[in-house]
Amino acid sequence: MTKIAIVWFRNDLRVRDNETLLTAVKEADQIIPVYCFDPRHFTKTENYNFPKVGFNKGSFLLQSVIDLRFKLNELGGNLVVRYGKPEDKVFELAQKFNATAVYCQEEICSEEIKVEQLLEDRLNTINVSIEYFWGKTLINYDDLPFSISNLPDIFTKFRNLVEPNLPIRDECHTPDVVNFVQDIEPGDIPSLEKLGIELHKTEKNASLYKGGETAALLRLKYYLWETGLIENYKETRNELLGKDYSSKFSLWLAFGCISPRTIFWEIFQYEKERKKNESTYWLIFELLWRDYFNFIAVKYEDLLFKSGGIKKVRLESKHNANKLNAWINGQTGIPFIDANMRELKQTGFMSNRGRQNVASFLVKDLKLDWLAGAEYFESMLIDYDPCSNYGNWNYIAGIGNDPRENRYFNVLSQANSYDQYGDYVRFWVPELSELPSTRIHEPYLLNKAEQAFLKIEIGKDYPSPCFNIFTWKAKQKKSDKISL
Ligand SMILES: Cc1cc2nc3c(=O)[nH]c(=O)nc-3n(C[C@H](O)[C@H](O)[C@H](O)COP(=O)(O)OP(=O)(O)OC[C@H]3O[C@@H](n4cnc5c(N)ncnc54)[C@H](O)[C@@H]3O)c2cc1C
Repeated sequence: MTKIAIVWFRNDLRVRDNETLLTAVKEADQIIPVYCFDPRHFTKTENYNFPKVGFNKGSFLLQSVIDLRFKLNELGGNLVVRYGKPEDKVFELAQKFNATAVYCQEEICSEEIKVEQLLEDRLNTINVSIEYFWGKTLINYDDLPFSISNLPDIFTKFRNLVEPNLPIRDECHTPDVVNFVQDIEPGDIPSLEKLGIELHKTEKNASLYKGGETAALLRLKYYLWETGLIENYKETRNELLGKDYSSKFSLWLAFGCISPRTIFWEIFQYEKERKKNESTYWLIFELLWRDYFNFIAVKYEDLLFKSGGIKKVRLESKHNANKLNAWINGQTGIPFIDANMRELKQTGFMSNRGRQNVASFLVKDLKLDWLAGAEYFESMLIDYDPCSNYGNWNYIAGIGNDPRENRYFNVLSQANSYDQYGDYVRFWVPELSELPSTRIHEPYLLNKAEQAFLKIEIGKDYPSPCFNIFTWKAKQKKSDKISL
C-alpha cells in the first residue's frame, strides 16, 4: 500500500532546513503539503479588539505562502491551500487520502497547541498519528543543557550556560526527490479581502520587504556576502532609518521563511571565509535573545500573556482611550514617539530602539495597560512573534526577565542620542521638517514668535503633548542616572 503523509505547514514556510518536510519525504511514498488559512487567525485580539492581522502582516503572509507554493512547484509538486480550521481541513485530507501520519512543526504557545490537540484528537479516531518536529529556535529544545524548569530567569545566566558549547545542529538538507500526491485540488490562495483584512494605502517605505523563502535567502546573501553589512552590525544596530542598519531577519523568521540555523551557519561560513569580529558575534547573540524568549514561553506558558506577566506583579494602569489613540496614531506630541509609531503603522516595522522607547513610554509615562501596547504590536508588526513580543513587553513593563528594578527609558535623551539631528523625526513627522535640531525633539518649547517664523502652530499643525509635560520633564531629569 502507498504510504501517504501530510505535511502541515504552519510557521515554517520554507523547504530549506525543514526537518518536518524532510522526514515526511523520507518516511512516506507520497506527501501532501498543506497550508490552512485558519479563520481564527484573522479575528480580533483578546482585550483590545485590534485585528489580529493587519495589512502589512497579511500581505507578507500571502507572499510567503505564494513563494512556498513556487518552491514546492520546483520540487515537482504543489502546495494544497485551504481556508478553514486545520482540525477540519487537515483531518478531511487525511481521511480522504488514507494518510498514515501528519507531520508538523511543534508550536509553543497555547492557541497553537490547542489547535494541535483538536487535530490530534480527530486524527486518533481514524488511527492517523501526528509527528512533531522542533524547528523554531537556534538551539534545539532537546539540546538545552538543563531541563526547562531550570531555565534561568535572567538572560545572561542562560547565555553563560549555553554559549561555551553552543549546541547548534547542522541544517537539514532540502529534499531533491519528492513524490507528491497528484490528483488533488490545490485550492486558491485567498485575497486579503477574503481574509477580512482592511486594505490601506501606504505612502512611505511600504513594501520594502517581500515575504517568502526566496526573499529571505536573498536578504541573507545581501546582508552578509554582497555588502558585508554584518561586519558593522554592532555599531549600526541602534540606528533608525533605512533598511540596512539591522538585518531585518525577524520578518522572515516570524513566518519560518528562514530558520535561525540557516542564519547561524551562514554567519559561521562568513567568519571562516571573510571576517570574524564583535559584530558577527553580536548577531548570534541577538538570536540567542530570540531563543531565550521562546524557552521562557515554554517555561511560563500563558503567564507571559497575562496582565501580571511572568512575575505575577500587579501594575497600576488606567484606561484612557484618548491617550491610547494618540500613541497608536503618532499624535502624542512627543516627536520621537510619534515618528516610531507612524513608521509602524505605515510599514509594519519598527527598530528595536524604537520599540523599547514607545513601549516604555506607553507603560511608564502614559501609565496605560501594557497589554494594549502588546496587542497593538501583535496587530501591526510583520515580524510579530508571540514569544518575542510578549517577552519583550513583559521585560519593558518590569514584569518579566529584567534583572534591573524599574528600568525606565528617558525618551528625550534617547531621542537626542539616537536621532541627534532629527532626521528620523523629520522623515516620519514631516510637519516638523523645518524645525532646527535644537527644537526638533521638543517642539512644545517654541514660543509664539518662533512658531510664526517656522510657519507651524503647535496644538494645530502638530499636537501639544497629550499629558503634563512639566511633571514628565522633571521625571526625565531625575531618571537621567538610571536610564539606558
Ligand atoms: C516591545 C518589543 C516588542 C518586540 N516584538 C517582537 C516581535 O514580535 N517579534 C520579533 O521578532 N521581535 C520582537 N522584538 C525584538 C526586536 O525588536 C526585533 O527582533 C528586531 O527589532 C527585529 O529587527 P532585525 O531583524 O533587524 O533585528 P537585528 O537587530 O538584526 O537582530 C537579529 C535577530 O535577532 C533577534 N532579536 C534581536 N533583538 C531581539 C529581542 N529583543 N528579542 C527577541 N529577538 C531579538 C531577531 O530574531 C532579529 O531578527 C520586540 C522588541 C520590543 C522591545
